[in-house]
Amino acid sequence: MELNEYQQRAMGTCLPSCRNFSYMMLNLVGEVGEFAGKVAKAIRKQEAAIDRNSLLTESRHVMTDEEITELRKEAGDVLWQLSGLCRVMGWALEDVAGENLAKLADRKSRGVVDGSGDER
Ligand SMILES: [Mg+2]
Repeated sequence: MELNEYQQRAMGTCLPSCRNFSYMMLNLVGEVGEFAGKVAKAIRKQEAAIDRNSLLTESRHVMTDEEITELRKEAGDVLWQLSGLCRVMGWALEDVAGENLAKLADRKSRGVVDGSGDER
């Protein structure tokens, strides 16, 4: 599936009252928070850990399949909200993704992937 197709189909489920910047921006933050909250809970229960290479370390990964499924659902919610935010801004999700890849490729070609700040 292409990103623009996803965006079009996802916005087919968007209620009219949600088609505004305020809702999309605030709920994007909310969905990221839901994702982070599930990760935090797993860490608290020592079902997961964050290390240099991954969220879920090999030795401590005991999250259940259901918990992983719920985490993936939250990732999808984040994608839906980002898609919606782009829509209300008048941006095609595929264009935003393409511009991001171009930015990253440029940084890689100049050897400045590692670092901070958008303007490098
Ligand atoms: Mg959610």
